[in-house]
Amino acid sequence: MDKLMLAVAVVVAGVWVLRHLSTHNRRVCPRCKGTGKVRSGIFSGRFQQCPRCGGANWIKGWGGRPE
Ligand SMILES: [Zn+2]
Repeated sequence: MDKLMLAVAVVVAGVWVLRHLSTHNRRVCPRCKGTGKVRSGIFSGRFQQCPRCGGANWIKGWGGRPE
């Protein structure tokens, strides 16, 4: 019985961790470094919305996946 309870606890904890990571695993966008904008073209004064994060300044997921 104790082993069953332990197994249930491990499964619940595992699911919680995965959900937690999937919803809170945010990190600063490496493309725009959190600015939401990237330099456009050769003119240093012009910026465009970051295509990597869509201007959200951060991405989530493992390995830089957008979602
Ligand atoms: Zn970005």
